[in-house]
Amino acid sequence: MREEENRDLTLETRLVQLGVGRCQTGAISLPIYTSATYRHPAVGESTGYDYTRSGNPTRAALEEGLATLEGGARGLAFSSGMAALTTLFLHFAAGDHLIVSEDLYGGTYRVIEEIFGKLGLAASYVDTGDLAAVEAAIRPQTKALLIETPGNPLLGIADIAALAHLTRRHDLLFIVDNTFLTPALQRPLELGADVVVHSATKYLGGHSDLCAGALVAREAELGERLYFLQNATGAILSPQESWLLVRSLKTLSLRMERHSANALAIAQWLQQHPEVEAVYYPGLPEHPGYELAKRQTHGFGGMLSFRVRTAEKARAVLEKLQLISFAESLGGVESLMTLPAVQTHSDIPKEERERRGVSETLLRFSVGIESVDDLIADLTQALS
Ligand SMILES: *Cc1c(COP(=O)(O)O)cnc(C)c1O
Repeated sequence: MREEENRDLTLETRLVQLGVGRCQTGAISLPIYTSATYRHPAVGESTGYDYTRSGNPTRAALEEGLATLEGGARGLAFSSGMAALTTLFLHFAAGDHLIVSEDLYGGTYRVIEEIFGKLGLAASYVDTGDLAAVEAAIRPQTKALLIETPGNPLLGIADIAALAHLTRRHDLLFIVDNTFLTPALQRPLELGADVVVHSATKYLGGHSDLCAGALVAREAELGERLYFLQNATGAILSPQESWLLVRSLKTLSLRMERHSANALAIAQWLQQHPEVEAVYYPGLPEHPGYELAKRQTHGFGGMLSFRVRTAEKARAVLEKLQLISFAESLGGVESLMTLPAVQTHSDIPKEERERRGVSETLLRFSVGIESVDDLIADLTQALS
């Protein structure tokens, strides 16, 4: 079925059906079209495909799927999450100002500060869980608000609907990085956001075996502008990776359910552990964003962070882990743990990082879909 015929089906069903019926042979698995270019039927005519940077049937199936999953008019697939974000930032001009969540992926901070900052784009980092702080940061030059919710690595929750109201009032583009929850658990466009960003390398891919990114625009006009930028600059996803991502998305709902169940059980277990000083997981009633998360999401996801007493203890835990891998990244079926201050967030200056609570005692855990008993057994020995 074409994606537009699928809009009435549930998200779970649409995920499973991605790519089915796209080929006249009846193939259930989406074909991989490797062709870089396409024959024209006549001068001035096109099959709809001219050149693969501009459009590819395998990527198109993925992009249409991403658009319907997020509830947007247009989806675009990129070679990485950073490629998607970079293309999106090219929408702005020198002199423009952005407001950005301070609890943010380190690479997003780096590209804004080290690359777009030099080209004249300014950014303010604020606690986007605080509406008044966001409003106070608005300047005459402000063009957009970019948030991550839950935040990274402290899992703070921002109120998407309230921020959408604010950005509409001030005529700002509202961008939500939905990498941590995916459309299976959170659909920002339905709550009023204008664009959703993904590192599809994480949960959308879900198996730590591909690098991809996505943008989904709520309105066709903005989608067309983003497509123009993608085609002009070229950071597209390859046909092979597009196929792999479609294949991976089929199990997204199942995976997110299990990630969420495991993360909740582990967050509760860590809370009562004597070596653990604090646990950050929006599914815990003690989390300041719990009520809001319950309202705006369909589950709390698989990411949590926790704090141990000393930096030495945090390092010792990572070195003792056996089943859980000490590795960067997140969102795979395999459990991964990292030290954000040293790995993912090392590009944020130390003082700024510590002010935000990202110190060397904080561990971030991407809880996989293994048996929760095996994960707790590994944590037990690593914390001992
Ligand atoms: C990983 C990540 C990115 C960057 O994506 P890549 O695929 O690594 O380029 C952006 N935002 C968030 C929230 C991420 O976790």
